[in-house]
Amino acid sequence: MKALILHGVGDLRYEEQATPEPRAGEVRVRIGYCGVCGSDIPRCFVKGTYHFPTIPGHEFAGTVEALGAGVKHFSVGDPVAVFPLLWCGTCAACQRKAYVQCSNYDYLGSRSDGAFAEYVIAPVRNLLPVPQGVSLREAAMAEPAAVARHAVARAGELQPGASVAIFGAGPIGLLVAQWARAAGGDVLLCDIVPEKLEQARALGFNKVFNSKTGNPVGWIEEQTAGEGASVCIEAAGVPVTLIQACKSVARAGCLVLMGNPSAEVTLPAALISQLMRREVSLRGTWNSCYDPEAPSDDWREALAAMADGRLQADRLVTHDVPLSRGIGALEMMRDQSAFFSKVMLRPDETA
Ligand SMILES: [Zn+2]
Ligand SMILES: [Zn+2]
Repeated sequence: MKALILHGVGDLRYEEQATPEPRAGEVRVRIGYCGVCGSDIPRCFVKGTYHFPTIPGHEFAGTVEALGAGVKHFSVGDPVAVFPLLWCGTCAACQRKAYVQCSNYDYLGSRSDGAFAEYVIAPVRNLLPVPQGVSLREAAMAEPAAVARHAVARAGELQPGASVAIFGAGPIGLLVAQWARAAGGDVLLCDIVPEKLEQARALGFNKVFNSKTGNPVGWIEEQTAGEGASVCIEAAGVPVTLIQACKSVARAGCLVLMGNPSAEVTLPAALISQLMRREVSLRGTWNSCYDPEAPSDDWREALAAMADGRLQADRLVTHDVPLSRGIGALEMMRDQSAFFSKVMLRPDETA
């Protein structure tokens, strides 16, 4: 099969590799689409993966192509999305079914081979059926959509009309915005990239603010009659937006830390005091809840919301690129040489 293989930091090659065979309890998935995550850029160009060579790519959907021994409930040809974290099943977190907190996990696309390829191997317990009417390209966004749902859930139940300020309107921020809207929130979006704010407007969000042209804290104050936002979700990972988010939370509000921090942040004493006085809850959010045995989890809700239109994930796709041109697409993202939101890679058409 063809794959984008990372041989070392910055050494990504499009080349041939043996098509992997599923073992017992596993399936081979023929990749339909694999999204490029923001984290794939430092993974490929700065930090590398845990060992080399590795095939990156963890946001994907495809069709079941071959079954290992003992696989039930899925058949060849089924469209599936895949939870990319492989949990150990025995640690304390796994015993609590908190699989993303597993202390001994493996991960498709960073520790094990992922989906910048024609095929990937996945355990059957990691598969989710893609509902009718959801394309494989959209289903490939189940991972960021589940992550976004989890972040909104971490803020607790939203009161109807509660203001939700989101800092960062990248693909995750815009998915967070759609979940917050679906939960009845009044969404306020801030970013510094005009194209991202345009995308937000196209998705029906009209309370958007370009933080390059003014102070988002004052804008949020105006929009909330001086109260501040009930929920602030920091989805940019930039020191200045974290400070803005801290300043914008209402009394008894909640601030969700979501963006991967890109640098140290210094919180002024007066701001810490304000957070205390306002009795603000600070919550972290990490990945998503996945539980194949539960009636519902972030992943199944994400796919269901794509099917019923609460989420319009596919509209975030700005680039749909064949794998053979994937290296150029990743370099474009690294260099930010063009505007992009979600970049999707797909195997080249087989003859
Ligand atoms: Zn990701
Ligand atoms: Zn574990």
